[in-house]
Amino acid sequence: FQQNHIPASHLKLCVCVRKRPIFKKEETNGEIDSVSVSNPQIRVLAPKFKVDGITKYIDNYDFIFDNSFNENEETQDVYKFSLKPLLDHIMNQGVITCFAYGQTGSGKTFTMKGLQNQYVTDMYKLSTHQNYSSMNLKFFISFFEIYGGRCYDLLNNKNQLVILEDKNGFVQIQNIVEKQAISAEEMIQLIEYGHNIRTTHATSSNDTSSRSHAICQIMLRNDKDKQVGKLVLVDLAGSERAQDCQSNNRQRRMEGAEINKSLLALKECIRAMDTGASHVPFRASKLTLVLRDSFQSKSDKSKIVMIACISPGSSSSDHTINTLRYADRLK
Ligand code: ADP
Ligand code: MG
Repeated sequence: FQQNHIPASHLKLCVCVRKRPIFKKEETNGEIDSVSVSNPQIRVLAPKFKVDGITKYIDNYDFIFDNSFNENEETQDVYKFSLKPLLDHIMNQGVITCFAYGQTGSGKTFTMKGLQNQYVTDMYKLSTHQNYSSMNLKFFISFFEIYGGRCYDLLNNKNQLVILEDKNGFVQIQNIVEKQAISAEEMIQLIEYGHNIRTTHATSSNDTSSRSHAICQIMLRNDKDKQVGKLVLVDLAGSERAQDCQSNNRQRRMEGAEINKSLLALKECIRAMDTGASHVPFRASKLTLVLRDSFQSKSDKSKIVMIACISPGSSSSDHTINTLRYADRLK
């Protein structure tokens, strides 16, 4: 176990990488584990050619992140250094945004669900602690996805939502359903419900969930209905889908272009937030527009945790390198 992980509370932006285990099925198909993790370092071996069925490696790609989690570390370990250290922050006006980035099948949803459940459980527990119990906190959830530049409510039958920016610069999502959950169990059920709505109807040939961003927001309010803190969990579209902008299929091409635009905009906004820039280009995409609160650059209110998920298989190494480059450029 790696002892030298950095807790996210020490950073405004915490960039983590998580490598998932290689599956038996992948090994049977001749996949080789081409990623080695030794926190904080990651090395990807890119297979370049095959001689007599044996893959020869000629290139190593090395990266360093705030935290690099290997395939033996569990979601609990990721949680301990990414979201858990930010529990007090959310009780004190904080806006915490956690992104899962990576190619389809790399473990984004798996990681998000695990982190969500643990955070929700701990958050409810902490709210009854003597430091916070007098605040009489109430918890609300909204859950929606962005697909092809449009927003759909995952807690209301995928009802299409309209986003408005008022003259004070507040971004509002009209008619979005917000549900109050009085216990951690109830909150976890609502999250599970939203995830299921997202993936029902998805077949392998028309897997919309890999082409949509899912945004789960948990709001903490006091007994005067004033917001105390907010947790935003974003399960991003498969990063390889950004390359669909070269597809022959017009629909795919447009969706790919949209994903590409939003992931580039996200990178710019995160960088601006982290460096304290006076201008954050949040209007550059729907995704960054709805996440406006997450990019407050002039205060310590916003904290971002980026978890780049990677598949270890040698056939994924190009996607893996792309993912690590994206994460690397955030800092
Ligand atoms: P994504 O959301 O990035 O497309 P998923 O989260 O659906 O990927 O993960 C793909 C598959 O890999 C799922 O079956 C999931 O349960 C499994 N998986 C992902 N990460 C891990 C992990 N760290 N340990 C064990 N299984 C994992
Ligand atoms: Mg997923």
